[in-house]
Amino acid sequence: MEKKIALQMKNVSKRFPGTLAVDGVDFEVREGEVHALMGENGAGKSTLMKMLAGLFNDYTGEIYIDGNLCKLHTPMLAKEHGVGMIYQELSVARRISIVENLLVGRLPKKNGLFYDKKEAVRQAKELLERVGLGYLDPNKPISEISQCEAQLVEIAKVLGTNPKIIVMDEPTSALSSEEVQRLFKIIRALKEQNLAIVYISHHLAEIFEIADTITVMRDGRKIKTYPVSETTNEQLIQDMVGKSVKEFYANKESHVGETMMEVKDLTRWGFFHHVNFELHRGEVLAICGLAGSGRTEIARSIVGVDPLDAGTIVKDGREGTYKNMTMAIKSGIGYLTEDRKVMGLALTQSISDNILVSIIDKLSKGGLYNPKDHSKIVEEKIEELEIYPPQPGRLVNALSGGNQQKVLMAKWLATDADVLILDEPTRGVDIGAKQTIHKAVLEYTKKGNGVILLSSDLPEVVGLADRAIILREGYITGEITGEEITESSLLMAANGEGKHVS
Ligand code: ADP
Ligand code: MG
Repeated sequence: MEKKIALQMKNVSKRFPGTLAVDGVDFEVREGEVHALMGENGAGKSTLMKMLAGLFNDYTGEIYIDGNLCKLHTPMLAKEHGVGMIYQELSVARRISIVENLLVGRLPKKNGLFYDKKEAVRQAKELLERVGLGYLDPNKPISEISQCEAQLVEIAKVLGTNPKIIVMDEPTSALSSEEVQRLFKIIRALKEQNLAIVYISHHLAEIFEIADTITVMRDGRKIKTYPVSETTNEQLIQDMVGKSVKEFYANKESHVGETMMEVKDLTRWGFFHHVNFELHRGEVLAICGLAGSGRTEIARSIVGVDPLDAGTIVKDGREGTYKNMTMAIKSGIGYLTEDRKVMGLALTQSISDNILVSIIDKLSKGGLYNPKDHSKIVEEKIEELEIYPPQPGRLVNALSGGNQQKVLMAKWLATDADVLILDEPTRGVDIGAKQTIHKAVLEYTKKGNGVILLSSDLPEVVGLADRAIILREGYITGEITGEEITESSLLMAANGEGKHVS
């Protein structure tokens, strides 16, 4: 007998300025079902779920929960209708106790100011039992339990609001394989309790293990829904990837030359192990892997932001490691970070100051500093990267995200760095800025420089990379070169071909 439909989204859409992130999607989840939502980065999965969580008051279309039409215009309304969201970034506060985390906003009242501690601990224990954490002392601060336990506490917290539907957006990206199994055990128990579960993940093996039904999204639209038993790895990948976007990069030619940098046996225990690769002149080398595979960690350790437990970097005849980013920059390695707001740009300074900050020492060397040279560099970069508006004095926080990213790129291009490590260089930027940044990358390598590209945007990797090394759980497990680099080959490799049991 088919189970009751718990959630029905009918022809829902959500527009952001310039993007139709979700475009007329129909989506149904039944009670007691784990429904996987799949699609490449930017497909619209998170937006669809945020709609359900009441984060947008301007979506269109209809959402029914248990057959009733609901207007989910605030998070409070969504919660009242039984939607429980478990976010990618854990929302638990690290320093306060488990009990206070679990019952935040609804601690049992005693007289006035104080809450009923005994009753709170009792309720907390009950919730912890439901996620297999009955052994934890609810009075412990969150900071003293493991990441996996904290994730389960997050689920317990959501269970405390009596949800009908639970949404998990990439819940396993920071978990080890044993911890994933532990999470799956809890998910199976929730299924038994007739909860409807939406599960977002890029790990095909996980999907085939835990999901009953799969819906694939692409470019904001629903492509297909099928029972997990009626599909395969290959079918899924094909539906996620759709048509090739290779034409977009049609004029890419390779200029790969001699080795310019080598990393040997790089290891940071628990993050990545025995990583070896060479970077050649003129080459774009992509490091590919799923979230949590260790990509960003490798980059951070190469440039000295994080420590290394073993291994060396060979560049320009010297072998060693960099103790900090200044040392890496001195030896010609630039690092454009994933989070431009935190590590890359001075938002309250001008375009000009941001572009010049990494070269100011050199410009002023021996008192020969010449402001004329410096405004020329800025003008060139503004033109090359089509930074808009083209005003050197404009503050960076007054620019769009895409233009901020161009300024960051310009800043690194203005240095003498002959190796740039680009971590998600176009995440969240519009298509125009993306094309400009790609053009700048290709120009840069054409001059004999090297780029290490970390990107979860598969078309970007296909379009730019001369070579891709595959990282899984901190180990290099393969390499793909030239024409062999396709979205499907990358996805297959990152997931470990043939690993799932179908
Ligand atoms: P997914 O979760 O499948 O990776 P998202 O739902 O995050 O995809 O994004 C879908 C599209 O909407 C992307 O093009 C993304 O850039 C855009 N987008 C997402 N959130 C915002 C936002 N807050 N403002 C503007 N655009 C957004
Ligand atoms: Mg997402």
